[in-house]
Amino acid sequence: MGDCTSQSDLTCEQALESLHEFLDDSLTEEMSQRVERHIASCDYCSTSADVERHFRVLLRKKCVQKAPASLRQRILVQMTSLRIEYQG
Ligand SMILES: [Zn+2]
Repeated sequence: MGDCTSQSDLTCEQALESLHEFLDDSLTEEMSQRVERHIASCDYCSTSADVERHFRVLLRKKCVQKAPASLRQRILVQMTSLRIEYQG
């Protein structure tokens, strides 16, 4: 089979770094596709993206005026650790 050194594969770190811009639709088309592909194949980043999207919906509806970064971080950690426990 093919090698796994394809330059188009992002690491989780890279994907998460670009997540905000990805959701803001401010990445280049190529980069956006790379992030999308990573999220589609990675449970961890998929969960992170879901949390981030959910927050954005809430913010847009103004259910949450300003979600503190600490709260966002806490929920993210909880969701990802839940997912990890479920898998493990
Ligand atoms: Zn990932």
